[in-house]
Amino acid sequence: MKLAILSRNNKCYSSRRLREAALQRDHQVKVLDTLKFSIDVMKAKPDLYFRSKQLSHYDAVLPRIGASITYFGTAVVRQFEQMDVFSANSSTGIANSRDKLRSLQILSRHHIGIPETTFVRDKRDVLPAIERVGGAPVIIKLLEGTQGVGVILADSANIACAIIETLQSTKQNVLLQKFVSESKGRDVRAFVVGDRVVGAMRRVAQGQEFRSNVHRGGKTELVELDDTYRETAVRAAQILGLRIAGVDMLEGADGPQIMEVNSSPGLEGIEICTGLDIAGAVIDYIAGQVDFPELDLRQRLTVSSGYGVSEIHIPDGSEYVGKELQKSGLRTKDINVLSLHRGDKVVPNPKPDRKLEADDRLLCFGRLEEMRHLVPPRKRKRTKIARLPPTS
Ligand code: ADP
Ligand code: MG
Repeated sequence: MKLAILSRNNKCYSSRRLREAALQRDHQVKVLDTLKFSIDVMKAKPDLYFRSKQLSHYDAVLPRIGASITYFGTAVVRQFEQMDVFSANSSTGIANSRDKLRSLQILSRHHIGIPETTFVRDKRDVLPAIERVGGAPVIIKLLEGTQGVGVILADSANIACAIIETLQSTKQNVLLQKFVSESKGRDVRAFVVGDRVVGAMRRVAQGQEFRSNVHRGGKTELVELDDTYRETAVRAAQILGLRIAGVDMLEGADGPQIMEVNSSPGLEGIEICTGLDIAGAVIDYIAGQVDFPELDLRQRLTVSSGYGVSEIHIPDGSEYVGKELQKSGLRTKDINVLSLHRGDKVVPNPKPDRKLEADDRLLCFGRLEEMRHLVPPRKRKRTKIARLPPTS
């Protein structure tokens, strides 16, 4: 395979190790500076230039996009996607993971532990929001901070309000998050490649510090993750659209709480801590997946008019409950079931003799007119608070 590693720095540990691992496996590999691309957008002919020369053909790219160049970097990756080149991480995955609010929003509808988080703009909404996430002490976070910079632990609600007001006055977006104190300044980094965790470590904050980032003096130690932690890490990466990710989890009382998912996880800390060939695992994975570049299902499938993708929910008491898929009549209605979602399990391409259960959700492609009758009417959101008369 011919692989391009997109990185601004070809001398850093991660770039060096990835390049080395690719060469050891007899692949062709180049580290290309992400900012030296030009993106040509023309009808039916997406193209890329590198240092003003037309880019030769690559089978795969491995983006290592730093936070400071997210916009340009994701545009380059998107262009490779338009040219049907396999990218280890999708451009939307990288963009999703960059923003702490956006990534938690996406994860929140799935059965995945996350610290309770809230995002407010109006001054008057800050105090009630702090109460909703469990009261002080409370974590305040800049949406796009890294290395622990921009993560503050406020001891009291008043201090939290003052900090938020100050940050907002400098046009910074901040979110409020429950302080997961039982994690005791520790977190777990799981290095996800495809559908498995290939290495994991725990980071432990030192002294009075609550942040475990290595840049804040955190020390690393080896950790054996149980299945819940592994599955949570892999699912979080997959949901965000990342095949290679560093998933950071707090060790909450009820299990893993996803804090953030990094789309360009560093290799140095994890390889030194675990002694494992993580770079090799990344390269082997890419080589095995190179024939399957990212494609936007909705974009591709909805071109035929009257057809589309929809999720069908099987409610309790529905005529479909207990029926095999082949006897459900969906196929004769021109509806194909792409995957079946049951609780937090996913069955891809369910077999014809698979029996449906109440509360199953079927991801389908088919005739919209037929699916319309099967999509349940939209439920109103339940509110925990007694309904007050509207004020405006
Ligand atoms: P960054 O992108 O700057 O690393 P994180 O969200 O990962 O920001 O937070 C940095 C560190 O702060 C984490 O590694 C963890 O140790 C600590 N931390 C962050 N959020 C919480 C929280 N909700 N509860 C407890 N500790 C937290
Ligand atoms: Mg972090």
